[in-house]
Amino acid sequence: MYSELGLYIDGAWKKNGGGNKAEDVINPATEKPLASLPHANKADLDEALESAKKGFAVWRATSAYDRSKILRKAADLMRERHDAISKIMTLEQGKPYVESRGEVLVSADIIDWYAEEGKRSYGRIVPGRAKGTRQLVVHEPVGVVAAFTPWNFPVLTPARKIGGALAAGCSLILKASEETPGACVEMVKCFADAGLPAGVLNLVFGVPSEVSEHLMTKSAVRKISFTGSIPVGKHLAQLAAKHMKRTTMELGGHSPVVVFGDADPEKAADTIAAFKYRNAGQVCISPTRFYVQEDVYKRFLTRFTEYAKGVKVGDGLEKGTAMGPLANARRLDAMDSIVADAKSRGGTIQTGGARRGNQGYFYEPTVITDIPDDSKIMTEEPFGPVAPIVTFKTFDEVVERANSLPFGLAAYAFTSSNSTAAAIGDAIESGMVGVNSIAISTPETPFGGVKESGHGSEGGTEGLGAYLSTKFISHG
Ligand code: NAD
Repeated sequence: MYSELGLYIDGAWKKNGGGNKAEDVINPATEKPLASLPHANKADLDEALESAKKGFAVWRATSAYDRSKILRKAADLMRERHDAISKIMTLEQGKPYVESRGEVLVSADIIDWYAEEGKRSYGRIVPGRAKGTRQLVVHEPVGVVAAFTPWNFPVLTPARKIGGALAAGCSLILKASEETPGACVEMVKCFADAGLPAGVLNLVFGVPSEVSEHLMTKSAVRKISFTGSIPVGKHLAQLAAKHMKRTTMELGGHSPVVVFGDADPEKAADTIAAFKYRNAGQVCISPTRFYVQEDVYKRFLTRFTEYAKGVKVGDGLEKGTAMGPLANARRLDAMDSIVADAKSRGGTIQTGGARRGNQGYFYEPTVITDIPDDSKIMTEEPFGPVAPIVTFKTFDEVVERANSLPFGLAAYAFTSSNSTAAAIGDAIESGMVGVNSIAISTPETPFGGVKESGHGSEGGTEGLGAYLSTKFISHG
């Protein structure tokens, strides 16, 4: 059922057996190996670079209209093959099949959306000062892109980068996650089968730091797009600055949820609790700090905890599973550390708080209360199924606490007042705010953070613009 893995360079697959180093891909529900993944060596990376240069020349000369046809065909193939791709994703990443399926289908929508938007990359004519002059502003594809994607969304994150870059006319070298390579390999096969010219999209795997350092020193690479942790993002941003390459950095967050006293606490809890345990909390926009106004705190906490207790944890391929294992053993250690810190600071574990079983990286859906704002869970991105819930008194106080961290990716608020909704939307320092809504990630809207959560947007017209350079042409 699992994918046949390989590197995709210059329109050809390079599989195991060529003497390259390789690593095992592990099923997080069983801790057993699924397959062996070949690593790219330096010669493979250089070949990918040459291939991407050649691919760029071909692709930028292809009309946006014809590019769109190929992208749409790839999206259709993803839909046709969604069942197999989703099963592969669940095997390697752990998330329940329904979530994998949703991810594959939304990723196809992202490709479709970019396929259309790529046709609308208009320039403009600016009136000249002297008679007979003409001033043109045009957009051109930025060039060869190197993209790095993580293990929590093995198809969606690559889809955002592939869709934006290819619709703009760029070519791409993608280094997807070595921990979850199979679903991405299957997506790349859809592009190959849709007729994408050789070299336009290349897929490599390896030791992440070796691959990024090799590619980022090369002048042919003009743009870096990275999704992952803040420390790695800062490191890559430094490397990019050294070689003056454009970057999009989609990094971690620590999303506050503010539940005002005039909100319906049960309705808010139902909405946000289901979102909290999605992908076992391993989502950069996952709600991670819950501030509830004192008068509705008890009702919100009761309903949220009931939900957490009812979440069916298990193998993501089993019917009815609502939460799978964590994706790797590092996340289990991280959960143990933040929960131990919370306990040592007087925190109350309302439910969960421990690993479940001893095979597979399962962790209990957890709710913690009575913790100070400077505890680990309130200050470090948890990236797991742990929800800290605390109280607040006033609007100004909660805004100050919500904005007190260096993160600024997503935020959520619940209120029945239009003026509070407007005020909180304005006051929160983050790239995305959901007010009475968790719908902050769609193909057609910008997705990205501020402060240490990064810069640049993926999705929406901004996501296409991220792969375009602006040129001014003046005719005398
Ligand atoms: P990590 O910092 O080791 O790696 C994060 C990602 O960056 C991985 O995909 C990894 O392959 C890649 N990476 C690491 N070093 C790299 C390098 N030098 N060049 C290119 N890519 C490199 O952390 P991790 O243990 O995988 O995850 C831990 C934390 O990362 C989480 O707690 C979370 O904060 C963050 N994270 C964020 C996202 C996101 O969607 N923004 C996704 C995954 C992880």
